[in-house]
Amino acid sequence: MLLATDLDGTFLAGDPESRLKLYQLISAHPDIQLAFVTGRGLESVIPLLSDPTIPEPDYIICDVGCTVVHGESRQAVQPIQGSIDALWPGAQTIEAALESIEGLQRQEVPQERRVSYFCERSAVTDELVAIGESLNCDVLFSAGKYLDFLPRGVNKGRTLIQLVEHLGIDPELVMVAGDTLNDLSMYQQGFKGVCVGESERELLEQTEHQARIYHAERPGCGGILEAFEHFGFLGHAGIEAEVPDNVKSGKSDLVMVYHRLPYEEVVENGELIRRRPKSPNGIIPTLLSFFAGGTSGAWVAWSIDDPEQGPFQTHTDVDTSRYEKLVAARVPLSKSDVDIFYKKFSKEAFWPTLHTFWERASFRDEHWQVFLKVNRLFAERAAQEAAENAVVWIHDYNLWMVPAYLRELRPDVTIAFFHHTYFPSADVFNVLPWRRDIIGSLLHCDYIGFHIPRQAENFVDVARGVTPLEVTEKQSCAPRYLTYGCAVGLDEMSTEIKVNDRRIGLGAHPVGLDLNRVKSALANTDIQARMESLREELSGTRMVLSVERLDFTKGIIEKLDAYERMLNEHPELLGKVTLLMVCVPAAEGMTIYEELQSQIEQTVGRINGRFSRVGWTPLQFFFRSLPFEELVAYYAMADVMWITPLRDGLNLVAKEYVATQGLTDGSGVLVLSEFAGAAAELRGAILANPHHPQELADTCYYALAMSRSEARDRLSEAYEIVCRYDIALWGQEFVDAVTHRRDQRLQPVTALPGCAVA
Ligand code: UDP
Repeated sequence: MLLATDLDGTFLAGDPESRLKLYQLISAHPDIQLAFVTGRGLESVIPLLSDPTIPEPDYIICDVGCTVVHGESRQAVQPIQGSIDALWPGAQTIEAALESIEGLQRQEVPQERRVSYFCERSAVTDELVAIGESLNCDVLFSAGKYLDFLPRGVNKGRTLIQLVEHLGIDPELVMVAGDTLNDLSMYQQGFKGVCVGESERELLEQTEHQARIYHAERPGCGGILEAFEHFGFLGHAGIEAEVPDNVKSGKSDLVMVYHRLPYEEVVENGELIRRRPKSPNGIIPTLLSFFAGGTSGAWVAWSIDDPEQGPFQTHTDVDTSRYEKLVAARVPLSKSDVDIFYKKFSKEAFWPTLHTFWERASFRDEHWQVFLKVNRLFAERAAQEAAENAVVWIHDYNLWMVPAYLRELRPDVTIAFFHHTYFPSADVFNVLPWRRDIIGSLLHCDYIGFHIPRQAENFVDVARGVTPLEVTEKQSCAPRYLTYGCAVGLDEMSTEIKVNDRRIGLGAHPVGLDLNRVKSALANTDIQARMESLREELSGTRMVLSVERLDFTKGIIEKLDAYERMLNEHPELLGKVTLLMVCVPAAEGMTIYEELQSQIEQTVGRINGRFSRVGWTPLQFFFRSLPFEELVAYYAMADVMWITPLRDGLNLVAKEYVATQGLTDGSGVLVLSEFAGAAAELRGAILANPHHPQELADTCYYALAMSRSEARDRLSEAYEIVCRYDIALWGQEFVDAVTHRRDQRLQPVTALPGCAVA
C-alpha cells in the first residue's frame, strides 16, 4: 500500500506511543510505501530525514504539491516535476504583481514554485484572486492564516494522483491522511482517506459525507492507526501482531556501553582467561567505581565470537568481590567485523575527520553498513540489560548510532553519551557523508558530554545545520576554562538545546587523572632506581621529552622540524640538550600510519646526521610503548615536556607530566599546543601554535631558558588544576549531570495555572 500523509498535525502529531507504533509498523512492513505530502518546502522536510526513528519516505511531495522528489536521492520525479515547472510564472513575477496589496506578510520559510504569505481572511479580496488568475495561478487560503500562490491546477491531490499513476499503484491501495484544508485536494481523488482527530473544522465539513473518508478520533498518528484498522489495511490483526514488542526491561539500573571490556581476555595454553587490564588509565576503574556499593549494572562491550573457542558466553562476571551486581554483557562480533568496525572504518573515516584531517579520510558505504550493524547489536544488548528508567551511558564515536536504535527499543531510558575525542565545527564535520544520521542519532540522547566547551559548541554548530534547534540554556566558560587565550577557548557555551519536543543537556567534562597511579609509580623502587640512572646518564644535559602515539594528529613532523630549527638558531644548545621522543606504534593492520612512520624515521635520521657529535646525540627516538611506570620516571627527569598536537581531544600526557613534576616538587615546564583540549584547562602551560614553525621553536627555547622560580609558579598553577579536577570528579560531575536530567524526565508533567493537561 501507499500511505500519503501530511506532516504537521498528522504524521508528526499524536501521542508519543502512537507515533512510535506507527513508525515501527511502517519500518516493519517494507511493502508499505510512504509519501510525505506537505506544505513545507523541501529544505524544511530534510531535518526530519535525519531522525532515525522516523521512517524514510519513498517520495516527498512538498510545497503544497509543487515539488515532487524521490525520498532517498531527493531528485525530481520526472516528468511530473517538468509539467509543474512549465506552469509556473516565477516568484519574482508574482511578488511584483502583489506589491501594492496591503496586509500580506511573506512567509520566511524555504519555498519553491510557489509564493506564500501570512494574512487575515479579509485580505483575500476579489482583486487579489483576480491577480492570481491573470498570472495563471491558484490562490489558496488555509488554516485562517496561510495564503499560497500556486501554479494553476497544482495542489497536493493532483500531484499525488499523477505520482500514483506514474508508479502504476492500484488506487485502491492508497490511503491519504491529513488535518487541514490544504489537504482537501488529496481527498478529492477517490482514494481512501482519514482526517485525523482535531482536524480543521472546514476540512471535516467538506469531507463529511464521503464514504471513503474516515474521521478519526485520535489526533496525528493515532488517527492513522485507527484508519488502518477501519479500512482493514494489513488485516485487522495486522497492526497488533506485526509491530515488534518493545524489548522487555532488564535488571540494570546503570548500563555502561564502552567498546572495550573492563578486563583483558587472553588465551593461555589454549584457554580463554580474563584478567584485570595491566595498566589501565583512570577511565575504566572510574567507570567501574559506579558499580561499587551494590548498584545493579551491566557493561556492554564487544568480544570476538570465535567458534573454535566453543559456544559464545554472553554474560560474564566482572569482579564479584568489588562489584557484586555487575555483569559484562558481551556483544559477539566476528574477527572481520571487528577489523572493519574498529580498525578500518573508525580510524579511516571518522578519526581523521573528527580531528580536522578530513582530506585523509576515506568513506566506504559497505563499511558504514558494518558500522550500523555493530551499533545496532550494541543497542539491542543495552536495551535487554537496562531496567525500567535506567541510565545508559554510551562512550565515544565508535558507538554514534547506538542512541537512535536504543531510543526506538527503549523510550523510557535516560541516554547519556560522552565524546572522548575532538569534535570539529560544521565546516569539517559536514564532510562526513552520514552526518545527518549521526547527528539525528545523537539528538536522541538526554545528555552529551565533551572534554571542553569548544567541542560542545561545535556540536551545536553541526546540529544547527541538520535541524532547527533552539538554545535554551547557556553558561559562561570562565573562570574554569580559557576564553580568548588559546585556539580552542570559548567565552560562552550552550548547556541545553531543544529540538522538536526534546531537550538535550550539553556539558564540558575534561577527563582527569588518577593521581594515585602516578604516586604508586613514584613509590616503586624499580622506578626510583630508573630515575637515578637517568639522572646520571643525563648529567650536564637538559632533557626535552615528547610522548605520543604515532598519529598524524600529533604534529610529530612539525615538532621535529622545530627542533632542528631551534638547534640551528641556537648553537649554544649543541651538546647541552637532548630531545627524548617516545612514539607508540599503531596497532597492527592500521595501514593509514605506515607513510607517517617512514617520514618520521627519515627526519630523525636527518637531524641526528646533521648535529650529532661523539658522545652526544641530539635526538633519542623510542619507537615503542613504555610501561606507564617507566614513563613516570621520564616525566620526573624532563626539564621540558613538549606536547604539540595539531589537534587533540584533551591530552592526558600533559596532565601526567604536571602531576609527576608536582608530586616530586620539580620545576619542569610544559609546552603545550593551543589546539589540545587540555590547553583550555591547564593554566601555567606555555601555549604554542604547532602550525607556526618559528613559534614552535621559540616556545621550546623559552621553556629551556626559563628561570626556576617562574617555572615553579607556572607548575603550581597547573598542578592545582590537575589535583582538583581528577578522574573521580570527572565521573561524578558527569553522573550528577545525567542524574539531574533523568530526574527531570521522570517528573510528572504539571499543569500551568489555568491550563488543562491534555
Ligand atoms: N602511554 C603509555 N606508554 C607510552 C606512551 C603513552 O602508557 O609509551 C599512555 C600515557 O600515559 C597516556 C596515554 O598513553 O595515559 C595517552 O593518552 P593521551 O590522552 O595523551 O593521548 P591519546 O593517545 O588518547 O590520543
